[in-house]
Amino acid sequence: MSRRDEILREMGLAPVWRLRASKSQERPLPVPEENSNPIEDMSWSQLKAKVAGCHDCKLRAGCTQTVFGVGDENAEWLLVGEAPGAEEDRLGEPFVGQAGKLLDHMLFSIGLQRGRNVYIANVLKCRPPGNRNPEPDEVAKCSPHLLRQVALIQPKLIVAMGRFAAQTLLGTDATIASLRGRVHRYAGVPLVVTYHPAYLLRNLPDKAKAWADLVFAKKTIENRGQSPIS
Ligand code: URA
Repeated sequence: MSRRDEILREMGLAPVWRLRASKSQERPLPVPEENSNPIEDMSWSQLKAKVAGCHDCKLRAGCTQTVFGVGDENAEWLLVGEAPGAEEDRLGEPFVGQAGKLLDHMLFSIGLQRGRNVYIANVLKCRPPGNRNPEPDEVAKCSPHLLRQVALIQPKLIVAMGRFAAQTLLGTDATIASLRGRVHRYAGVPLVVTYHPAYLLRNLPDKAKAWADLVFAKKTIENRGQSPIS
């Protein structure tokens, strides 16, 4: 206690009130550090948090929630679609509508099951309004998330489902028909192309071709390292 305080106390003028430091003099409270990791260095939890809070493009403002991806994070199979639709936007999981049911049946037909050695994701994590086609700036902003998912999963094979996923991942405008039946690469990982399940719902005769694509994909995984890859 200072001499002045002592005197004031003796005079019955204690306690001594002091002005608080002004806002600008106050020591700032420690703020939790933001995740400033670049996407390519993120862990699963960091990447999930980044996507959940992402407003990098205009889509987030118009969707209910982001749809990160689902399944076995150490899967050999990575299936990639276009973008969430209405059901996926509502439930937060990829391929849960009619197209998703067909996808589950197709997986079953080659001995696979959602979540077991299979991971399912989309190029875009937010639903485009009215299911319109994704726009190039949206793809550019969102692609690093998928790229990081690929790096974290390290799948043996990627299956690009539909024209949009195939053309985006391969950087081409070639047709699905011309891309099927060959092994391509995305981020160093072998990639095969097949029809989108939603397309198959409208074009039932092509289901047989999609089944052949999955059989081809399975053989590619089994023969990995033994067959030449284009
Ligand atoms: N179509 C897609 O491409 N992805 C989904 O998650 C659902 C439908």
